[in-house]
Amino acid sequence: MKIGVIAIQGDVEEHIKALKATLAERGESGEVIRIKHRGIVGSCDAIVIPGGESTTIGRLMEREGITEELKDAAEAGKPLLGTCAGMILLASEGDEEVKKTGQPLLGLMDVRVKRNAFGRQRESFEAPLRMSIFDEPFPGVFIRAPCITHAADTVDVLATLGDNDDNMGKRIVAARQDNIMALAFHPELTDDRRIHHYFLDTLI
Ligand code: GLN
Repeated sequence: MKIGVIAIQGDVEEHIKALKATLAERGESGEVIRIKHRGIVGSCDAIVIPGGESTTIGRLMEREGITEELKDAAEAGKPLLGTCAGMILLASEGDEEVKKTGQPLLGLMDVRVKRNAFGRQRESFEAPLRMSIFDEPFPGVFIRAPCITHAADTVDVLATLGDNDDNMGKRIVAARQDNIMALAFHPELTDDRRIHHYFLDTLI
């Protein structure tokens, strides 16, 4: 099994470490490789788009010719996981800020995303998340996190974060559409490997 991590900017090494640890826990042999330019995506069985700065990652992926390859991989049914900035990039539509900056989106999930959705006071925080796929809450690490503000019926909502203190209503922070999964938070920054296992189990 070969898993590729888009290695342009952001928390690439943390994902690589988490994926290697997950493979080891499963007793599976596999390779985790960095994708920095075109010509690599096609050889991967699954791909992760890490957190970071979505404008930078999006632009450089386009320049490197990775964008089209990712679209082909998704169409071929390969599993894709996007975390934080990765969630933004997977979306089909962005908020005003995304539109204003003209950042390229992959458009692989029928969702609308909002960048930096939790406001300045809450730039970074941790919250135990109730996820439909697990019995016990998952430790959600949020760093200048986005959220999904609208999802089509074709999208499974895996977790929402209700926020009564700012009257913004519920925000979708984890979702899956067929072979594509998007998370607003960072599972690679915890020792909890359940999401990485889920990604490898259900999606491969
Ligand atoms: N705020 C970042 C963006 O909009 C995402 C933050 C992250 O990936 N930790 O790209």
